[in-house]
Amino acid sequence: MSQPARVATTSSNLIELECSACGKKYDASQEQHLCTCGKPLLARYDLKRAARTFLLETLKDRPRNLWRYAEVLPGDPPVSLGEGMTPLVHAKRLGASVGLGNLYVKDEGLNPTGSFKARGMSAAVTRARQLGAKALAAPTAGNAGGALAAYAAAAGMAAVIVMPADTPSANVMECQAFGAKVVKLNGLISDCGKFVAENKDREGWYDVSTLKEPYRVEGKKTMGYELWEQFAGKLPHVIFYPTGGGVGLIGMCKAFDELEQMGRVGAERPRMVAVQAEGCAPIVKAWEAHQSSAQFFPNAATIASGLRVPGPLGDQLILSMLRQSRGTAVAVTDNEMLHAGRELASLEGILAAPEGAATVVAAHILAGSGWIKPHETVVLFNTGTGYKYSEAWQKAFEA
Ligand SMILES: *Cc1c(COP(=O)(O)O)cnc(C)c1O
Ligand SMILES: [Zn+2]
Repeated sequence: MSQPARVATTSSNLIELECSACGKKYDASQEQHLCTCGKPLLARYDLKRAARTFLLETLKDRPRNLWRYAEVLPGDPPVSLGEGMTPLVHAKRLGASVGLGNLYVKDEGLNPTGSFKARGMSAAVTRARQLGAKALAAPTAGNAGGALAAYAAAAGMAAVIVMPADTPSANVMECQAFGAKVVKLNGLISDCGKFVAENKDREGWYDVSTLKEPYRVEGKKTMGYELWEQFAGKLPHVIFYPTGGGVGLIGMCKAFDELEQMGRVGAERPRMVAVQAEGCAPIVKAWEAHQSSAQFFPNAATIASGLRVPGPLGDQLILSMLRQSRGTAVAVTDNEMLHAGRELASLEGILAAPEGAATVVAAHILAGSGWIKPHETVVLFNTGTGYKYSEAWQKAFEA
């Protein structure tokens, strides 16, 4: 294996942090979490300076991981396990079944620890280490815990993972293997988040919860940069994203804005489609009711553990990005996910997480209704490997 790549940057283009809701500015050289108004902070860069070297040509020879986008990331020595630069597969056989000639699967299951959570955690742990954090803590209903635990291990830092007692066994096992402290609670990820919030000050934990620090978004936004690079400087027409906390959706939209500010793309945007599970669909509910914020979704239940987020902190951001991109939101059932997952696997050789399979269901629905035109370029995000979900897949074969 090659050494984690260190990208040579003379100094970072990171300038400050800005509240996504009220616009209040914060010092990026200090540990920061939420704005005083309670909303997430976003990292802002000197994009004029970044644009001088940020070109398709100059990117070509860089390390094949997300740290290749050094101009638009914090400049610290990365904690890297080779995350990012995942395959963009032209899914011709699945496309024929869906009725789309230009259907692509971005296969995030090939990331370290088997999910795109690796991207966010690589960036968050890198920055936390630089800011002097000792112990990292996060709630998780699935893949975030394993990713945090792995990057904490790679950085030589302690990790505390708080998860619902019914989290899939592979997600519990990986955290234990990486040497993290695992706390299991009878409840949902929202209860686990409360536990972290209530204990972090006393225990000295650095809170890495979804959107409660600004850098997981920075790691995940690189999915947007990769699409731009892999489509040779163009963006697709439609992106299907299985939405839990919405970090990747927020991140990609941020990346597209940054690309425009650097003069690399125009004003057109991919239409973003948030895909959720019927058993936990707060964003879809709010979208259908034309609301700008979401209500807590009661009795959240789905095999797609990454979508079991009943009260996402970034609800207003997600909904406004769906609106601005002229996208939409779709809910699918667990059974549909399992069925579509088998279709994706048997046609393309990709065993997806149920979250990824959910996007296949949604693509069938929106191609069938004419919301997508047959010639349009469409990307489905398979956000994780199916190999960690043996309990869920077992059900598909028992029936
Ligand atoms: C966490 C997770 C999601 C949801 O990601 P967000 O960016 O928080 O919306 C989707 N799929 C998988 C496999 C996940 O682990
Ligand atoms: Zn604010």
